[in-house]
Amino acid sequence: MVAVKSVEKFAMECETEHFLMAQRQLDEIAGEMGLDPELHERLRYPKRSLIVTIPVRMDDGRVKSFTGYRVHHDVTLGPAKGGIRYHPDVNLGEVAGLAMLMTWKCALMGLPYGGAKGGVRCEPWKLSAGELERMTRRYTSEIINLIGPDKDIPAPDMYTNEQTMAWIMDTYSINVGHTVPSVVTGKPVSIGGSYGRQEATGRGVAYCARRAAAHQNLAAQSPKVVIQGFGNVGSVAAKLLHESGYKVVAVSDVYGGIYNENGLDISRLLAYVSEMGRVQDFAAARNISNEELLTLPCDILIPAALGNQIHKGNVDQLECKIIVEGANGPTGPEADQILFDRGVLVVPDILANAGGVIVSYFEWVQGLMHFFWTEEEVNHRLEEIMGKACDQVFAMASKTGLRTRMAALRIGISRLAEAKRLRGLYP
Ligand code: GLU
Repeated sequence: MVAVKSVEKFAMECETEHFLMAQRQLDEIAGEMGLDPELHERLRYPKRSLIVTIPVRMDDGRVKSFTGYRVHHDVTLGPAKGGIRYHPDVNLGEVAGLAMLMTWKCALMGLPYGGAKGGVRCEPWKLSAGELERMTRRYTSEIINLIGPDKDIPAPDMYTNEQTMAWIMDTYSINVGHTVPSVVTGKPVSIGGSYGRQEATGRGVAYCARRAAAHQNLAAQSPKVVIQGFGNVGSVAAKLLHESGYKVVAVSDVYGGIYNENGLDISRLLAYVSEMGRVQDFAAARNISNEELLTLPCDILIPAALGNQIHKGNVDQLECKIIVEGANGPTGPEADQILFDRGVLVVPDILANAGGVIVSYFEWVQGLMHFFWTEEEVNHRLEEIMGKACDQVFAMASKTGLRTRMAALRIGISRLAEAKRLRGLYP
């Protein structure tokens, strides 16, 4: 006789360490806020997940298969929204965990969206432009039934950019037979993108850093800033904070970091990086490793690279007063609690890096209205939304004594829970 295993013994396919971390975060705040157990159960898993195989003709004539994903965590508040990443770590659990984070982020920011994420497991830096284009177009056609301006609107994430979005928009449009700019956000301005979108995540991070510095009474003494990651988020945050009179003392990229305790000349560094493709060996700075960078004495540490950079193993060596999470999930749960106990103010990812999805929302709205705003208008509205969210999160944290991350989750999840309660459970 064949033994029938209990259904409980089978974990959901997405239940990797990464996904379980996101789920535990939900469980913790659900207990804390007394979330209705039925709503809690419904939010613990992604609504739908698609895994696709993407065969790509490589430059050498051979065909190589890549694995791609698109996950919708929840769509109660509107169409699913979230980026697409190209990275070797991409797997179903990571994408599902990040989709969950997008649900909370959109709800916290008051955007009419649910949460999604997508990705392709690949080493994008090893692919030629032609291979990237063919992979992107085939991935788009494989997920085409999931996406659309009213259904799910992808955007850039790690190692994807405006060009990737242009290929997705073109592939989708060719398939439906007419141009549909609003199927993606983060497009180039010339094909319906928004002014300010490219800089939006970094701008939001810089804005949160200034708000957090003011909150901790550090703003008057030109705070020292350390930034891990010098891509689209880290470099823009560095530029804007430098312009506000903050002292950016260290930055890094995948190859390593640089440090000058008197501050780096960011405009010269930006020119150097666009020529050399890395930050190391920059004049008037000392080369350091990415591990050393995290432990430098500073006022504000901005992890704007990969996930899980601040963990039990290194949190005790950190010497910052504020952390502003430019990346998604850079701080592990144990480290988060230790930082809280030590009085370090953490501006959590769903607040700190929400500038990207906020201006994505503006881009989508402008596209649907066929009416476009100036960059000043975009930046002004961005700061309005981020400012309100910062105030709400800081107020909730001090009212409840919760960690800022939990306070932010509580606000987002309460809004979503109210909407789910009103809509009810079908059938
Ligand atoms: N990938 C970004 C994020 O994690 C932006 C998503 C979007 O604009 O839809 O928030």
